[in-house]
Amino acid sequence: MPTRIFNFSAGPCTLPLSALQKAQAEFVDYQGAGMSLIEMSHRGKHYDTVHYEAIAGIREVLAVPDSHDILFIQGGATLQFGMVPLNLMTGDKTAEFLNTGTWVKKAIVDAEKLGPTRILWTGETENFTRMPANDEYQVGDNAAYVYICGNETIGGIEYHAYPDSGAVPLVADMSSHVMSRPIEWRKLDLAFAGAQKNLGPAGLALVIIHKTLLEKCRDDLPAYLSYKTHAAKDSLYNTPPVFAIYMMKLTVDWVQFQGGLAEMEKRALARSGALYDTIDRSDGWYRCPVDRASRSRMNVCFRLPTEELEAKFIAEALEANFSGLKGHRSVGGCRASMYNAMPLEGAEKLAEFMRGFKQINA
Ligand SMILES: *Cc1c(COP(=O)(O)O)cnc(C)c1O
Repeated sequence: MPTRIFNFSAGPCTLPLSALQKAQAEFVDYQGAGMSLIEMSHRGKHYDTVHYEAIAGIREVLAVPDSHDILFIQGGATLQFGMVPLNLMTGDKTAEFLNTGTWVKKAIVDAEKLGPTRILWTGETENFTRMPANDEYQVGDNAAYVYICGNETIGGIEYHAYPDSGAVPLVADMSSHVMSRPIEWRKLDLAFAGAQKNLGPAGLALVIIHKTLLEKCRDDLPAYLSYKTHAAKDSLYNTPPVFAIYMMKLTVDWVQFQGGLAEMEKRALARSGALYDTIDRSDGWYRCPVDRASRSRMNVCFRLPTEELEAKFIAEALEANFSGLKGHRSVGGCRASMYNAMPLEGAEKLAEFMRGFKQINA
């Protein structure tokens, strides 16, 4: 068995060991082809099979309805911050945002360059510690779309139910919680996710768009920046990132084999529950800065009594084989990111380590 530590990194992050091993076994000679998958034409039968199986696997595992198209686009989630307004801001319509933290703010900056924007609600004055309730904002009559981030990876807050945007299309950045729970497709017109949290290697984005919204997208864009281009060519307009898509397929296969989204949600609740319980039972020694109803199941943020103790905690945790626990540099503190491939054992052992650390240092 290879040596693997518990990797709590926010992303790129831990992936299923069996998917990594399958890729390793097939890497040099792909299924008897005498060459690697990354050495062969993306128009040949081997890659063609991978590509269409990846699309079919995502449709099945994420239960994507026929009303929505599945696209693979390079540039990660960040390119989507620009592609969404480029494609959807038509006429004088306004892009409207629920500003819940770092990742929505980045999307706002890009959209502002391309047309009129409006912030429907902002959590800034509360340090982005919660998601808004449905009755705290009013979608405009002239909105092109409402934009949300399903799980704010840095702040550690997550929508447990998605907002209802009425007749206005809802766009969601699902980068850090896609494939971790069943998805309310009925509410969603465009969902995208950078692959490197729950789906596979970095650089690739999964984009799922309602066909009605796709038809309304602008036509006068450079080819690669247009959703219509990717949809018309089944994401084979140019050379796709074949290795990233192949790894995503292996990861999706693994999720399906484990029991699909319901099972992933159960595991996410168990993992995050183990840590939140430890925090809640520590008499305030560990503190979760986030509103209880918005706590993320993927990224558990917590503080210790002092920054010195936080540094000591992170260093000693690493020695005990728990890596990636440093909070994002913009907010500090500690953060345990636990995506699909993190075993429950990892969360339970970390919780045990936290209790021990408190006992010695409190
Ligand atoms: C990681 C992340 C991104 C950025 O993804 P890139 O692939 O690096 O562009 C965007 N949004 C959220 C919510 C993320 O967690």
